[in-house]
Amino acid sequence: MNIILLGPPGAGKGTQASRLEAERGMIQLSTGDMLRAAVKAGTPVGLKAKAVMEAGELVSDAIVSALIGERLDQADTAGGAIFDGYPRTEAQAEALDLLLDERGRKLDAVIELAVDEDALVDRITGRFTCAACGAGYHDRYKQPAAAGVCDVCGSTEFKRRPDDNAETVRTRMAEYRAKTAPILPVYDARGIVHRVDGMADMDAVARDIAAILDSLAG
Ligand code: ADP
Ligand code: ADP
Ligand code: ZN
Repeated sequence: MNIILLGPPGAGKGTQASRLEAERGMIQLSTGDMLRAAVKAGTPVGLKAKAVMEAGELVSDAIVSALIGERLDQADTAGGAIFDGYPRTEAQAEALDLLLDERGRKLDAVIELAVDEDALVDRITGRFTCAACGAGYHDRYKQPAAAGVCDVCGSTEFKRRPDDNAETVRTRMAEYRAKTAPILPVYDARGIVHRVDGMADMDAVARDIAAILDSLAG
């Protein structure tokens, strides 16, 4: 099954994608994670993307669609993937159709995480992750069970993203509204959009998504 998790920054896409990986063995494809890895490794893509990401603007369609295309050629994604943070523009949505079509695959569902914009600054400025395994946490909504120790791997090192600050969040939300939200009607016209209340707690959101996937799997 190929599904898109769609929603503004901080909506909970990464959180839910990791759960789907852990609970259903699905494969998460996050262009944000791929770009951060490229920045860290200092690749040509990383060098181009770094300043754009720090400003909260969108990296070029060609770069992100190429990253997704490369991943879709790796065997682990043949059975399906969760697209997290991609597509983010109409051009990317068209590119994804083509990338899937070329490989004899198709999009099964778009899950929209509907959230109040007011909550997003709070979600994003409180976000942190385990530096060793990448597990996601939040200052208020999801602290590790033992203070300062990752639930998943036991590491005591955590990190925050340089773009997770109140100023950048405004730009990122504006980008979402202007460029990403317009792709929803396109998918809606195909009858594949499922709306989930992203303001509910993480477990409730996960249950809603599981119910949608179960109904699709028939
Ligand atoms: P969030 O989950 O907070 O929305 P991401 O990790 O998905 O953030 O993305 C971080 C940054 O990486 C974005 O602000 C943007 O600069 C860049 N980026 C990630 N995915 C895309 C994409 N599909 N198209 C363009 N830029 C992207
Ligand atoms: P996205 O990938 O859409 O940018 P994340 O999954 O990284 O969003 O979530 C942003 C922050 O909000 C993280 O710190 C995460 O722990 C927290 N979070 C995610 N889902 C919820 C939720 N339903 N309720 C409260 N906090 C949440
Ligand atoms: Zn960890």
